Amino acid sequence: MTYKTRLRPLSVGQLRTRRARLVRQLPNVEVTLRGALQRQMRRCGKADCRCAAGELHGPYIYLSVRTGARSGLLYVPAEVVEDVTRRVETTGRIEAALAEISAINLELFARGKLD
Ligand SMILES: [Zn+2]
Repeated sequence: MTYKTRLRPLSVGQLRTRRARLVRQLPNVEVTLRGALQRQMRRCGKADCRCAAGELHGPYIYLSVRTGARSGLLYVPAEVVEDVTRRVETTGRIEAALAEISAINLELFARGKLD
C-alpha cells in the first residue's frame, strides 16, 4: 500500500501527530552512511595458493558506494564492520522516515493545510 492511500483517511490532526512522532523518533542523522554492504570471496593471485584450486579467501566485506556518477567498492576492515553495518541500517531508517514525512507534507499541502 502506498503512503498516499494510507494517509488519505487520516485527519489533519492525525497527520501532524504522525509527522511529529516521526521527527521525534528520527535516528541521529550524524551517523548517516549511504551504501550497500557486500561480501566477496577473493583469489590472491599466487599460483601455488589454495585459492588457485578454488578455495577462495574471505569473505571480505565491502561498502558499495555511489558518489555522483561514479561508484566503487570500499574495503571494510573487520574491526569496523559492526559499526558500518549499523550506520548503513540506520541510514535506511532515516531515509524511510524522511520519505514518510515528505508524503505527509504532500498530503497536508494537497489539503491546503501545510504549515
Ligand atoms: Zn590465495
